Amino acid sequence: MSRWENEIVKAASILSVSTKTVVMSGAGVSAESNIPTFRDAGGLWDQMDPVEAGTADNLFAQLEQNADKLKPILNDLLNAFGKAEPNPGHTALFDLEKMGILKTVITQNIDNLHREAGNTDIIEMHGNMFQMRCLGCGHKAILDRKSYVSDIEEKLKTITKLDFSAIVSLALHCEHCSSIMRPDVVMFGEEVQAMSESFQAAQDSDAMLVLGTSGVVYPAAYLPFEAKKAGAGIIVINPKENPFDKITDVYIPMKTGEALPAIVQEIRNQAGAS
Ligand code: NAD
Ligand code: ZN
Repeated sequence: MSRWENEIVKAASILSVSTKTVVMSGAGVSAESNIPTFRDAGGLWDQMDPVEAGTADNLFAQLEQNADKLKPILNDLLNAFGKAEPNPGHTALFDLEKMGILKTVITQNIDNLHREAGNTDIIEMHGNMFQMRCLGCGHKAILDRKSYVSDIEEKLKTITKLDFSAIVSLALHCEHCSSIMRPDVVMFGEEVQAMSESFQAAQDSDAMLVLGTSGVVYPAAYLPFEAKKAGAGIIVINPKENPFDKITDVYIPMKTGEALPAIVQEIRNQAGAS
C-alpha cells in the first residue's frame, strides 16, 4: 500500500463522479520517458540560459557566437526527444479518457507523447516539436518522431559548426509552396497557442489534474485558478513541490507515472465495490 493511499482514494473519489476532467501537464509528466525537465537539477536550463537562447531573435544572434556550444546541446535534445515513448502516466490519462472521465489534456509539453498515448482532445499551448509550420503558406505537418530525428542526426554529422546557414540547411521545405518550415513550438517572447480554448476548457471543467509543472510559466499557470473558480476539484501530482497549494483539494507528492495508474486502479476498485 502506498504511503499516499488516502490521497489516492480522495483523488479517485473526485474523478469517479467527473465527466469533464481537464489535465494541465508540464515537463514532469515526461520525466519518466527520460526527457529532462527544464528546471530540475541536470535539466536543460543547466546547459543553456533560456532567456538568452529561448527567444527567436536572441537565438539567431547567439547562433553565430555559440555555434560550437549548440551542436552538443542539440544532439542531447534529439537523443532525449527522439527515443521517448509514453510512460505509465500518459497511458493512465488515456484510460481516464476511455472511462468517460477525462475530456481535455492541456499541455505545456512539446513532445507529442499525450497524442502517442492515445488521448484525442489535446491542446498544446507551447506547440509540438514534431509538427512543422510553413513560413510561407502556414501549412502544418506532423512528422514521424524516429525518422525525423534520425534524419537530422544524419545531417548533423556533416556539419561541424552549427551557425545560421547550417540551421537553415537542416530545415524542411513545404510540399505546397517550397518555403522553409519551422518547428511549430512557442519560443520565449512568442504568444502561446490556443489560449482562449485553454481558458474555456478550464472554465468548463469539473475537476483538474495539475501534473508535473512548476507553475512558473504563464499564462498556463493561470489555468488551475480558472478551474477552481468554476468549482472544479484540484488534484496536484508532483513529487517535489506544489505551486498551487492555496487552491489544492488533493496533493499527491508522487511521480505521475506511479500515482496516475494507482488512481485509475482505485477508480475501478470503487466502481467494482459499489
Ligand atoms: P518545469 O521543468 O518548470 O518543472 C517540472 C516540474 O515537474 C517540477 O515541478 C518537478 O518537481 C516536477 N516533476 C519532476 N519529475 C516528475 C515526475 N516524475 N512526476 C511528476 N512531476 C515531476 O516544467 P514546466 O512547468 O512544464 O515548464 C517548463 C517549460 O519547458 C514548459 O513550458 C514546456 O513547454 C517546456 N518543456 C517541455 C518538455 C517536454 O515537452 N517534455 C520538457 C522540458 C521543458
Ligand atoms: Zn507552404
